This record gives sequence, C-alpha cells and structure tokens, in this order.
Amino acid sequence: MMGTVQYGTTPIVYSVQFRTRRTLGIEVHPDRSVVVLAPAGIAPDVIRQRVLRRGAWITRQQRYFERFLPGRPAREGIAGETWSYLGRRHVLRIRRSDQPCVKLTRGELIVYLPDTTDRALVKRQLAAWYHAHTRKRFNAEVLAALEILRAHHPVRTPKLAYRTMLRRWGSCTAAGVLVLNPDLVQTPVMCIRYVILHELCHLVHHHHGKAFYNLLERVMPDWKRWKDRLERSV
Ligand SMILES: [Zn+2]
Repeated sequence: MMGTVQYGTTPIVYSVQFRTRRTLGIEVHPDRSVVVLAPAGIAPDVIRQRVLRRGAWITRQQRYFERFLPGRPAREGIAGETWSYLGRRHVLRIRRSDQPCVKLTRGELIVYLPDTTDRALVKRQLAAWYHAHTRKRFNAEVLAALEILRAHHPVRTPKLAYRTMLRRWGSCTAAGVLVLNPDLVQTPVMCIRYVILHELCHLVHHHHGKAFYNLLERVMPDWKRWKDRLERSV
C-alpha cells in the first residue's frame, strides 16, 4: 500500500508494509524511500497522521541521504567551486605562482601553481592539503576527546584509521580501532568532536544501550545538537 502526505511544501510518499507487530515504525532508506511498518488492520488515516507528525525527521533523513545519491555535482577543482572545511564554505580560487601551495583565507581556498590550467595538479594539491589538515585536526580532536572521556572512564588509546564511507562518519571496532571518515573535516569542529566522542564511548560500551547513552550524555551533554547539525550540514 502506498500513500502521500503533504508536509509543508514537501510531499512525502511512503509505502506501508504490514507486520505482526504492535507499534508503528517509520524507516527512511538511503534511496530516500519512506517505509512504514504497521500492525495489520491499522487505519490508513492513523498511518497518514503519524507520517505527518514525523515529517521533520523524515525530510531531514532524506536530505541527509541525498548527499550520497549519484548526480551530485563532483568538485572538479574549478575556480568558483565551493569547498567546505570545518563547517565553513570557501570559494576555490586558482592563482599563478612558481611555488605551488594552498592557502586558506577568509572565505577563500586559494591554490597557487605555475600553470593555472593544470586541473590535475589543482586537484592533487587540494587532496594533499585536505589530507594533511584532516590528519592534524583529527589527531588533536582524538587526544582532546580521550582526555574528556578519561575523566569519566578509563580507556586505552585506540588506533586511528581513515576510511571514506558512504553512510557513516565513524566506527569503532571491537579490537579498538577508531575509524573516521575524512569527509568529516568538512563539518563544524563540534560535529567532529561529537562523532569522535560517540565512537570512543563504544570502547566502553559496544552497543547503543542505555549505559552507552548515559556515558555519552556525561562526556558531551549537548551531543544531540551536534548530531542534528551534522545531519543538516551535509
Ligand atoms: Zn554508535
């Protein structure tokens, strides 16, 4: 069964799957489809009302997944593009200089190179700049987060690894390896801190149970704000 509700100016299309369950659940999938898991026999109007009530959350999830859909313009290293770093947007500028380098100034990310038409070198320079800055920033944030966490619970220092992941900002393996998505460096510092603290809390609790959230709440009382911001920033 399919349905549609109008949430503000946004139509939300959803499909309903009837299950043997007592409560109604809503899922937003990475392709942005909305699936309602409903107890058999529930009135269509009750489903519609519930979808409408969760409208803010549903559209937020859809926006979040939009980021990963094909067709998003890739950044090509062309002057005028927007490049994000620590939650700020910078316009890419390309200037001529015998000494290749990258500089970040207010609102501008400037690539200097001998031949301004050498797009491959522009992209290589930008990749190297992001690589270096991501590592430096994440290392410092992990150390700061460990200090905060250790005031509440002893943990060992995890190994740090980087992996570009489609739908995750970070993870923490049972063996104690903290994996961070380098794309996270595009988001505000507090969002980076939230992801790191969240993952480090998994060194103590390997689940998302009550004890996990109690600890997260203690190490970052306003974590929800930054989680929210993270979902909106992408
Ligand atoms: Zn988690």
